[in-house]
Formats: sequence, C-alpha cells, structure tokens
Amino acid sequence: MVAARGVRKRFGHLEVLKGIDLTVDPGEVVVLLGPSGSGKSTFLRCLNHLEVPDGGSVHVGGDLIGFRRTRTGVRHLTPREVTRQRRDIGMVFQHFNLFPHQTVLENVVEAPCGVLREPRGEARARAAALLERVGLADKAGAYPRQLSGGQQQRVAIARALAMRPKLMLFDEPTSALDPELVGEVLATMRDLARDGLTMIVVTHEIQFAREVADRVVFMDAGRVLESGTPAEVLDRPREPRTREFLGRFL
Ligand code: ATP
Ligand code: MG
Repeated sequence: MVAARGVRKRFGHLEVLKGIDLTVDPGEVVVLLGPSGSGKSTFLRCLNHLEVPDGGSVHVGGDLIGFRRTRTGVRHLTPREVTRQRRDIGMVFQHFNLFPHQTVLENVVEAPCGVLREPRGEARARAAALLERVGLADKAGAYPRQLSGGQQQRVAIARALAMRPKLMLFDEPTSALDPELVGEVLATMRDLARDGLTMIVVTHEIQFAREVADRVVFMDAGRVLESGTPAEVLDRPREPRTREFLGRFL
C-alpha cells in the first residue's frame, strides 16, 4: 500500500529526513515514534506531497506520489493531479479544523459532495453511517463548538473517511486533547484498525502502539533507527536512543 524509498528532505541547511524507507502492507497499522524534531510530521507530509521530497520516492496504492516517470527522467505532476492523488490519503492532525458554521453532518458531507460529486442524498446517508461508526450518530445536527475536543476529533476522522481513503495518516491526533478525552479517540482508531484500514499513526500513546500497531518504527534525527513488532521495539529495544526515549514514558 505504501512504499517510501530513501525519502530525503531539507529545510535550508537543516537536513530533516536523511533517507527514510518504509513499507506498509494493506491493512497494516504502523506507529511512528520519535523525539520532537526527529522528522515524523515532515515524513507524513512527504507521503501525501504536502512537502515535496528532495530525494527518494513515495508510492501509495501503486501511484508514484507527486511525480510522473518520463522517458528522460521524472516530471512534477500538476497541482490538480497532486490534489487528485491526495484524495486517496486521509489525514488527521492534532488540530481538527472543522468548518465552524456547518453542522457535524455537513462537515462530513462537504468533500464527498464537492470533490467526489457524490449525490447529496447518498453522501448524507454515508455520512450518517460514518458518524455512527465513530460513535456520534446523535451529534449529526450539532455545531463543532457544541462538541468536546474528543468529539470534534472523531468528526474529523469521519470527515477524512468520507473520502474513502486507501490510507489514513494520523499526526498526534490526541496530543491537543484533555487527558480524559484521549481514550475515546484512541478507541475509534482501534476500531478502524480492526476493520482493516491501513494506517500510519504518529503518537506518543505507547499503550495504543502496544495494543494496535502491527509494527512500530522509531525515528531519530531524520533516520529510522529501528523498527519491528511492538514487543521488539517497545519491550526489547536494541538502540540506546530508543531505550532512552521510551524511558520517558515509564
Ligand atoms: P514533533 O514531535 O515536535 O511534532 P517532528 O518529529 O514531527 O516533531 P518535524 O515537525 O517533522 O518533527 O520537524 C523536523 C525538523 O524540521 C524540526 O527541526 C523543524 O523545526 C524543521 N521544520 C519542519 N518544517 C519546517 C519548515 N517548513 N521550514 C523549516 N524547518 C522546518
Ligand atoms: Mg510533529
């Protein structure tokens, strides 16, 4: 589903990604861990071309992201072509950015109607089903400000799912939430994992990684330092940097 090869990115003289390789199979859940500034968000953004990598390649669902191979090399896709590729890749951030003047249901219906040109009735029925899936069937008519942070984040997840993504990227989806609201969002993500959604999740929720991840990848200073099953990386880390990092969560 995802094949990233040698992904490099620099900002000025700062080399943020120094050649990242990652393969994710369909239905797999990968948790990305690493200290602040190690390049996790930049890497996620390279996967959907919100950042243009300086080197390497990213394939998602067979598509080469952002570029097209030609006889003489590669050329950039047009913005429109990149936007089209991005439809297959859902992204959920720390801050949910729902449309404040639309109801929960309208927030979820917006993209499938506007972008995928789904008939309104069909999109509304599917949005209702998605809200049910994230446990918010009773909030369809509410406005974002009437919801808790955890509920808003679950709407954001439903909104991303409404585009029928092949892959979902989560960048610290619970780190802006009050502690008592974290569990409900993680539970929703656990359900999606169980349903076979392919997910890459940046999170510091070690318990979630332990229970839900098929694989844990530890990044440090723009490199993948180690990767393996949760038991391998979380319980028997090989690298001193991984041990030191995990020590903070004990
Ligand atoms: P955190 O856990 O704090 O979210 P991270 O692992 O997600 O960290 P990134 O956000 O990917 O780290 O940032 C990696 C490095 O790249 C940091 O040093 C950051 O300051 C730098 N950086 C990120 N985006 C930009 C940008 N647009 N311009 C310049 N530097 C950037
Ligand atoms: Mg980040």
